[in-house]
Amino acid sequence: MKLGDFWRLISFLLIGLICGLLLDFLTTSLILALLLYIARIHFDLHLLSKWIGGRSGSELSGRSGIFEDLSYSLNQLFLSHQRRRKKLSGVLRQFEAATSAWPDAIVILNFSDEVEWANPAAKKYLDVRWPEDKKQRITNLVRLPLVRAFIEENQTDEETLDIASPTKSNAYLSLLLGPFDDTHRVLLARDTTLIRQANQARSDFVANVSHELKTPLTVLKGYAEMLAEQHDKAPTEWLPALEHMKVHANQMSELVNSLLELSRLDAGRPLSQIEKVDGEKIITAACSSGQALVANKNLSLQIQIDQNTTILGSKQELYSAFSNLIFNAIHYTPDGGTVVIRWGKKAKCISFEVEDNGIGISPEHLNRVTERFYRIDGSRSRLSDGAGNGLGLAIVKHIVRRHDASLRIVSKVGVGSCFSIDFPLEEALQERE
Ligand code: ADP
Repeated sequence: MKLGDFWRLISFLLIGLICGLLLDFLTTSLILALLLYIARIHFDLHLLSKWIGGRSGSELSGRSGIFEDLSYSLNQLFLSHQRRRKKLSGVLRQFEAATSAWPDAIVILNFSDEVEWANPAAKKYLDVRWPEDKKQRITNLVRLPLVRAFIEENQTDEETLDIASPTKSNAYLSLLLGPFDDTHRVLLARDTTLIRQANQARSDFVANVSHELKTPLTVLKGYAEMLAEQHDKAPTEWLPALEHMKVHANQMSELVNSLLELSRLDAGRPLSQIEKVDGEKIITAACSSGQALVANKNLSLQIQIDQNTTILGSKQELYSAFSNLIFNAIHYTPDGGTVVIRWGKKAKCISFEVEDNGIGISPEHLNRVTERFYRIDGSRSRLSDGAGNGLGLAIVKHIVRRHDASLRIVSKVGVGSCFSIDFPLEEALQERE
């Protein structure tokens, strides 16, 4: 109890005592004095509560003792709270200004995929308006089956999806979905139209140049082969030059063919001829093309096949993918090595596997070998014949993607490599459709 309050209580009691002695009602008078003192405290409490309710910025005027202190402390608290609020709303305004100026669409989704917040760009790219669309399910706002599957199926991973813009024709978006906090996810949409156009221009250029080169190269290659075959008619000093011409014409022709194949795959047209493909048949055909090389290097080629195992796909593309992997295994395995080819059904997929005990690939190259023109240390590549062009695995990657399959590469330098393609089971494909 503060000193002021103590003296106030004493003065109430003294007044009660004097009145009691004068009027000869001592007990009643003391009780009355105490009651008056309690009433006064009650009144002060009432004023304090009114002051708090009114959120007055000034101190509680005319009160003294504990109430004066209380009102002072509360006032300080209130002022510091006001200062913090001002600071926070400043930060919030800055954040809102930054997100408003952000060119990509940002939408925060709660655990039921309802919109919790969105920036202005969300209206432009996804037609999600803020705050009008608050608590609306995103799949009701962006009504594309691809987007629905993307949002409903990807619950944990950071995934991306490329789509045609739902709000603008001839425009494209890349969607990214990732975790925001424990219960929220963030959906980002970025305009990729210009990148697409640049990629398209590049692909068209490569396809056109390759196309224009194809015919003259075929002619050159034909003549080079013809001249090399008639070596008995040519002066002996010409022979190395003729052989060089033949080898390089062949390499350029292979490169042009690979570029044309890659451009065709790049164009993103759906598989033209989907049919039941018997893996055994294409593996046998690919192996017989590589037979001469296998014999030259004295390799052991082992083929382990589950007969009558078929997948749905393009026979021509699958032949290209399988033969690329088989030829690579043959090329990058030294004399006397072993290449094992497996084809068969597994628990959740149909798998094509090529395993070799060749030179292997070191970990820093593993993620990059499927990039176009990526070759590990040109000098060590292709142990047996001319240089590769670094396009084989890029072609394989495209074909794998077009067949809804996945490519796995496991490799260790000096031990060997295993390249596997896992195709979804036919039933799984049908279910998906
Ligand atoms: P390339 O025409 O050079 O073979 P690829 O795209 O087929 O092009 O392969 C890219 C690179 O990956 C190759 O240059 C080679 O270094 C490496 N590579 C591919 N397959 C194998 C393999 N079975 N063993 C070791 N390295 C491999």
